[in-house]
Amino acid sequence: MKVKVVKDRCISCGACVALANNLFEFDEDNLSTPIKEEIPDEEKDLANDAAETCPTSAIEIED
Ligand code: SF4
Repeated sequence: MKVKVVKDRCISCGACVALANNLFEFDEDNLSTPIKEEIPDEEKDLANDAAETCPTSAIEIED
């Protein structure tokens, strides 16, 4: 599984970083960016939760 943040949609609310600070961090433009290329199995539920939590659907999951 991979995650992607569509930067045009990120409003820097911080929800994904607060929920999963091992998966997302803010970049130099204060936009969320994935920390890991590949999401480990044990963190897939968390990644899905983050995607569902994002108010602008900026987080996209690829299986
Ligand atoms: S939850 Fe969505 S809008 Fe908020 S910081 Fe994360 S990617 Fe950006």
